[in-house]
Amino acid sequence: MDASLLVHFSTKIGGFSKGEYEGNNLAFHVGDEARVVEENREHIFNKLGIKSVADMQQSHSSNLKTVFEEERVLNCDGIFSTKKDLALLVLVADCIPLLFYEPKAGVIGAVHAGRVGVFEGIVEKSIKKLKDEFGAKSKSIRVWLGPSIRGCCYEVDGEALRESKDRFPSFVKGKNLSLDELVVKKLKEHSISQIYSSKICTCCHEEYFSYREKRVCGRQAGIIMLRDLDGKESI
Ligand SMILES: [Zn+2]
Repeated sequence: MDASLLVHFSTKIGGFSKGEYEGNNLAFHVGDEARVVEENREHIFNKLGIKSVADMQQSHSSNLKTVFEEERVLNCDGIFSTKKDLALLVLVADCIPLLFYEPKAGVIGAVHAGRVGVFEGIVEKSIKKLKDEFGAKSKSIRVWLGPSIRGCCYEVDGEALRESKDRFPSFVKGKNLSLDELVVKKLKEHSISQIYSSKICTCCHEEYFSYREKRVCGRQAGIIMLRDLDGKESI
């Protein structure tokens, strides 16, 4: 069934947005024209063969939800589903787009892993949900960490720096936090070994939107979907 899985991380490249959002902005909430965001979404969804999408109004929480159909979940930072042909989408500009798949349970997840959510335990909560609700097994869980801001550029200060040093000292160098490495460590602590982590820093690479680099900017997406292959050709 692996052939039926779609995992995609979008870039800035290929969209119709102008000005500060130039390129493929997929977020409605950042001040870009809604009509253009619709166009960008339609364009990329068509290219990927996506017909229905669930996404979130993300709030830097650790709230998770199971979705069954196309919807925008409010105040939520992780969505999970076993529904075929329903794409799950997480929007980011520096935070980690974290995608989950467990083939035996046939479950997928899209999680917004920023510092606040990770410190609140969104990674652990996601794993627990996959196991408790869907019967997923750690050794079968696959996880993708898409491009995000990495230790080279992610400087934190004030209370965030204090908390980082206090709780996760080995992931702080000077004022810089390696959130992606912390997430990988948390996954490994839960016996997950199938981890695919992007080495791309969104702040260093200009083909990605980066909130650190430019406060007003678009958002790229992490997208995951299980295609229903019944009667269709394998991809
Ligand atoms: Zn960097």
